[in-house]
Amino acid sequence: MAEGTDATKAADAEPLRTRLWIGGAWCDARAGGTFESTNPATGKTLAEVAEAGPEDVDCAVEAARTAFADDRWRRMDPQERSRLLWKLSELVESHADELARLETRDNGKPYFEARRVDLPSVVRTLRYYAGLADKVQGDVIPVQGPFLNYALREPLGVVGAIIPWNFPLSMAAWKVAPALACGNTVVLKPAEQTPLTALRFGELAAQAGFPAGVLNVVPGFGETAGAALVRHAGVDAISFTGSTAVGRRVMREASATLKPVSLELGGKSPNVVFADADLKQAVRGASMGVFYGKGEVCAAGSRILVEDSVHDDFVAGLAARAKQMPAGDPMDPKTRLGAVVSEAQLDRVMGYIEAGRREGARLEAGGDRVTVNGQGNFVNATVFSGVEPAMSIAREEIFGPVAAVIPFRDVDDAIAKANDSCYGLAAGVWTRDVGKAHRMAAAIDAGTVWVNTYNQYAPASPFGGCKESGFGRDLGFRTALEKYTRVKSVWVALDG
Ligand code: ADP
Repeated sequence: MAEGTDATKAADAEPLRTRLWIGGAWCDARAGGTFESTNPATGKTLAEVAEAGPEDVDCAVEAARTAFADDRWRRMDPQERSRLLWKLSELVESHADELARLETRDNGKPYFEARRVDLPSVVRTLRYYAGLADKVQGDVIPVQGPFLNYALREPLGVVGAIIPWNFPLSMAAWKVAPALACGNTVVLKPAEQTPLTALRFGELAAQAGFPAGVLNVVPGFGETAGAALVRHAGVDAISFTGSTAVGRRVMREASATLKPVSLELGGKSPNVVFADADLKQAVRGASMGVFYGKGEVCAAGSRILVEDSVHDDFVAGLAARAKQMPAGDPMDPKTRLGAVVSEAQLDRVMGYIEAGRREGARLEAGGDRVTVNGQGNFVNATVFSGVEPAMSIAREEIFGPVAAVIPFRDVDDAIAKANDSCYGLAAGVWTRDVGKAHRMAAAIDAGTVWVNTYNQYAPASPFGGCKESGFGRDLGFRTALEKYTRVKSVWVALDG
């Protein structure tokens, strides 16, 4: 397995060796650097990954520029672009077991989630944007005088996509599919913790028939490869998902070349449970909202606001559910709580659990670092009650399976507490009162509000945030057109 990342051949005892995917071919990093990607469930090296440095980013941008500048991609019959995206969706689907295994080994998420949620979402995203490829159209605009004025929608050029480690292949698809559908070419920088499925994705795109250089994949570190992509004068736009701290840097760095950026950043999303909710459903939804994906989900409903009169019953229910989902071997199909992505991340999560205790919150469930089969980075599903809005576990993004339960009095108090955050990514509301549900949906500062459900996503539904959760939207139809194309106004004299 010298080149690709075919996980069917990968045993943990025998690390993979990967190279960079540039211009439709595997190549070594110019500086010859490599880094390790480990399996967080075992602590063992999963892959020796060729490390892209700035010179490799140059090379990938060059390949993407060439593929954009000649007519092989943007002037391709749009239905042919559409066919290629659909073909890629079929290849992803037929390799879903392999890709899900690779994702699970790299990220630590349960195989159940990777196979049943991530992979189908990648396939659906590719298919949705296959349908966009031949619908990128402009407008005819009425103007004064003897003129025809029309607005063309043109691709931006080379899009730099920088993605995090929590949903590696889904995030790749969220950015790559709409960017390519609109006629752009892409340089994708996966997160250093989880580069493997993105590399395989690049290879499958070539197998589907995408021209060389249309999609390039350069695993590397943020401060080198990521920053080089953001600064590069040959990159026309940056689509970024990651932390708020790095999002700020990306925006600052992008200002030198005035390239547009879209930033999908952190969150501390409120999940608001009213006394008139179906409490059993609310407990189940809140548990899934905060523990799904080990809580390594930017939209995780990690601030659970509960109306006073049902608070104690709710906390008892949530703690009971947390205790019923022990951390387990991610490859075991029964496991619902996998391994934390890295030791560093586990230290961070444990630091917050410690802070919760120190600041006086009550630990109702979990709170322990554990191992599975004597190894790996795991933490139990953790519930704190008695959380004050000023505590760090109520304010800061933990990115781990840690729920902070905060009581509230009435609708106004719920709105005030829900919005008492620098973030504005997502929110949940649990109530049987339809008027209250809509009032809350309107009042909460968030890019997404879920009513009597949580963590629903679809390619057609735009996703992104406000406040320090960033701006710009992934997914959606018009939002994708706006993000990955620009408008050119053309005036034609009709009397000349
Ligand atoms: P997380 O907290 O999820 O690890 P980060 O914001 O640190 O999120 O990382 C998200 C992505 O941003 C990763 O691909 C990472 O390599 C990249 N990244 C980190 N620092 C920078 C930077 N200075 N410039 C560009 N990309 C960066």
